[in-house]
Amino acid sequence: MKTYLPSMFIVERDSDRCIQCKVCVNQCSFNVHSFDASENAVVSDEKNCVGCHRCVVFCPTGALNIRRNTLDYRDNYNWRPENIEDILKQAETGGVLLTGMGNDKAYRVYWDHMVLNASQVTNPSIDPLREPMELVTYLGRKPDRIEFDSHTHKLTTVMPPQVRLSLPVMFSAMSYGAVSLNVQKSLAKAAEQTGTFWNTGEGGLHSSLYKYAANTIVQVASGRFGVHSDYLNAGRIVEIKIGQGAKPGIGGHLPGEKVTAEVSHTRMIPRGTDALSPAPQHDIYSIEDLSQLIYAIKEATNYEKLVSVKIAAVHNSAAIASGIVRAGADMIVIDGLRGSTGAAPKIIRDNVGIPIEMALAAVDTRLREENIRNQASLVIAGGIRNSGDIAKAIALGADAVYIGTAALMALGCTACQQCHTGKCAWGICTSDLALTKRINPEIGARRLSNLLRSWAIELKDILGGMGINALESLRGNRLHLRGVDLSDTEMKILGIRPIGA
Ligand code: SF4
Ligand code: SF4
Repeated sequence: MKTYLPSMFIVERDSDRCIQCKVCVNQCSFNVHSFDASENAVVSDEKNCVGCHRCVVFCPTGALNIRRNTLDYRDNYNWRPENIEDILKQAETGGVLLTGMGNDKAYRVYWDHMVLNASQVTNPSIDPLREPMELVTYLGRKPDRIEFDSHTHKLTTVMPPQVRLSLPVMFSAMSYGAVSLNVQKSLAKAAEQTGTFWNTGEGGLHSSLYKYAANTIVQVASGRFGVHSDYLNAGRIVEIKIGQGAKPGIGGHLPGEKVTAEVSHTRMIPRGTDALSPAPQHDIYSIEDLSQLIYAIKEATNYEKLVSVKIAAVHNSAAIASGIVRAGADMIVIDGLRGSTGAAPKIIRDNVGIPIEMALAAVDTRLREENIRNQASLVIAGGIRNSGDIAKAIALGADAVYIGTAALMALGCTACQQCHTGKCAWGICTSDLALTKRINPEIGARRLSNLLRSWAIELKDILGGMGINALESLRGNRLHLRGVDLSDTEMKILGIRPIGA
């Protein structure tokens, strides 16, 4: 069928610079570039270009440029180009539009409407180059009070299991199959190097990754892929996945083409079959059911692991979070509107869920009001971009954050949103054996560790500027935040005051 869709990108090749080396032909996994023997020249069919920039980065002479095709339709506030092109695609395919990555719509990014405080004259700032600064975070249920032996001064309270993070950042759930094994190896090595955690996602744990158990979070999702006793006991935290920010209320789907022999072995499913995880966990229809699963996992792991419950940020997240704490979870994860995915229906990704900033503030407030905030750690995810976002998240009440897209960007991802095609030219979201070799786990781990190290330095700078020498003093301290260009209602939900007040 003839396609009525215009090319999204324009490929420009400077013929004076091009040396016909064919690097671009080999690097593009979307078959845009080819060598035309009759012309004795490399040529491009830009129709398939997704704007991933792989060819631009690897062209040795800087001969390539990729530009957005700004082909304009007649101005129409209602019928914008994206609406028209989505309808054209559905008229051709008759199917649901799938996409990768997180919501890219112009919903307000609240991090950009909050500013942090700094010390001036009184409560002087601290120089992090000269004075110790503490970013260490302990996740896990905290007792209501702690008691010490009056003679020995030793702690007599029996502490629930805790895990130590050297900085309040962990790598989000990204399953084997959705991302390549080399990506998971990079994440696991970086977590080990920097004293934090990576998360298996719902795809099981490959045998070569058990050695990173001390820095691993294992996930239990509705499909139970790869879940067995050794798996549960391998991680330090077991995460029950109820929902995910990119597709609240929707199950997972790993296309059969990505289910290679290794993926099928790790997930314990037949090779080449679609891995469809159901939308709900079929044994959870109430908080009581959730509690049963939490305690079944605690029993299976000898009460030595933290059990976490991950939900998508939705309208009543605060009430749900309260129930999760009362169900016995040691950690709650809230994944916001901009949370990413390997594949999701575009209509769900772009229209369902709420921004993480609002969900975080509402959940932290509710748990404090109910005097149960200490009973579970609160971790947020969904579009965290830099250390400024992290500092604001901590001030709003988070114990730590997960990063997914930012971690993939450290490996080369340019958010081209083609993860669901399995053709990722950067070798990240693919099972294609040739493409997966584009990620070298040693180099990947170094890049990820560098990212976390630079954020740790920046966090210390931010804290020092506030006159604070420990992250713990910032946690939930919303007095350090002010709202910019926000309505009274928005500031009320965020629990912050306006600038100048
Ligand atoms: S990689 Fe660059 S120099 Fe090599 S063929 Fe492609 S455009 Fe030409
Ligand atoms: S490598 Fe990426 S940017 Fe370059 S032509 Fe192919 S799809 Fe387009």
